[in-house]
Parts: sequence; C-alpha cells; structure tokens
Amino acid sequence: YIRIKDLHKSFHNKGEVNHVLSGIDLEINKGEIYGVVGFSGAGKSTLVRCINRLEEPDSGKVWIGDTEITALNKKQLTLRRQKIGMIFQQFNLFDSMTVSQNIAYSLKLVGTSKKQITAKVDKLLELVGLSDKKNAYPGSLSGGQKQRVGIARALANDPDVLLSDEATSALDPVSTLSILDLLEHINDELGVTIIMITHELEAAKRICKKIAVLENGVITEKGNTRDIFLDPKSNTGKIFLEVYK
Ligand code: ATP
Ligand code: MG
Repeated sequence: YIRIKDLHKSFHNKGEVNHVLSGIDLEINKGEIYGVVGFSGAGKSTLVRCINRLEEPDSGKVWIGDTEITALNKKQLTLRRQKIGMIFQQFNLFDSMTVSQNIAYSLKLVGTSKKQITAKVDKLLELVGLSDKKNAYPGSLSGGQKQRVGIARALANDPDVLLSDEATSALDPVSTLSILDLLEHINDELGVTIIMITHELEAAKRICKKIAVLENGVITEKGNTRDIFLDPKSNTGKIFLEVYK
C-alpha cells in the first residue's frame, strides 16, 4: 500500500554533503503496522518526513495506494496530506488550545460544519479514552494523555495512513504500553496502515509484525519482526538484541 522506490535524500551544510537516505526500497501492505527501527541519526525521521514530503526527496518515488506522492503538485499534496496522519515524540500540540480545539483544528481547515466537528471530536475523544478531558489544556495532561490527544488529532480527517515518529519515546513504560495498545486498537478498528518509527525494540516487537532496520540511511534488513530478532543479520539488529537481552 505504501511503496518507496530508490529514495535518496541528502542535506547540504557549508559545502559538506550529508547523505541521509541512500536508496531506500520499502513495501508496506494495507492495514499493516510496519516498524522502522534504527539508532539515533540513522535517518528514520527523514524517511517518514519524505513520505508526506515534509522533506523533499532528492530522487526516488513514494506511492500511497494508487497515488504517487512524489508526482503531486503543491495543491494536490496539501489535499492528500489531510489523509496522512502524523504523531510525534514531543506531541506537538497547540498549548493555547483545549484538547477539543486541538482535535478540531484540522477539521476546521477543511471546512467541516460545527455540528459535524462536535460529533467527530466526541467520537475521537471516546476512541482515545479522554472524554472527560475535552476542555482541559495540554499543560495539565500527562505525557500519555498528550499523546492520546495527538493521536485523536491525527485521526480527525480519517487518514488511511498514520506516520508515527517515536510516539512513545518520551513516555514511561506504562504509558508506552497503553499508547502501543491504542495504536494496535486503531489499526484493528479503522484499518489504518501505520508506519512506526522507533529506537525502542520492545515497542516494535509488541505491535509490528514486520520491521525494517535502518542503518546510516540504508535498510540493512527487513522482514518478520520475530525472525529478525531470533537471528539478526544487521549490525543494528545484533546490537539491539544484545542490549535488550
Ligand atoms: P533520532 O533517533 O535521533 O530521531 P533519526 O534516525 O530520526 O534519529 P534523522 O533525524 O533522520 O535521524 O537524521 C539523520 C541525519 O540527517 C542526521 O545526521 C541529521 O543531522 C541530518 N538531518 C536531519 N534533518 C536535517 C535538516 N533539516 N537539515 C540538515 N540535516 C538534517
Ligand atoms: Mg528521529
């Protein structure tokens, strides 16, 4: 469902070229929760940001469903992005808005009626288990609750794809588990295809049936999560296994 073909991305800084992604190929089926794991600096965030073109790839192609994302013009991209949800390590909530307003934000952008917005926000609050917090401000919430708001906001426009960039990395172990369970539930209930970026092996193991290991901008290993961690071939895979043993 998500296909990435020979994706390259480099950053230029004071005459130095930093090749961050060097020919990424990836295929993710509809309805999968697919993990991308790797150490800090491997290029994970850059890779997800290239999928919705928050970063423009230098070359290569990205498809979601039948749409070639890399062929869209600005206007088409803006439209398509409404159906690509994204959640972040630091939640990226609007601190001056209530929980409800945060969730309603993207619905307002697409001109949804007031009545529909209220109904949708209530439904999402129930889905993420925060119905009692709708008038609270992010500052009064725990990390886990903030991420629940982030997830509800990302789902507001019924995306077919959810990009998760270290969504649990700022959370304690208990909140981490509850957010992972929520992501799994959303995947089950709504059929949303999820790409989960993480450097936490345990998180990937818990909800991703398949993973790719990213190392210095190259995928060094991909396949069934279980197989990979029974017998990792890549350096990163071996180190992960050693660390988490
Ligand atoms: P982490 O686990 O720490 O989040 P990551 O795997 O997500 O790491 P990236 O954030 O993709 O890694 O960064 C990979 C490399 O790209 C790093 O060397 C980083 O400095 C560089 N990089 C990322 N974004 C930019 C940018 N906007 N401008 C210049 N360099 C960048
Ligand atoms: Mg990152």
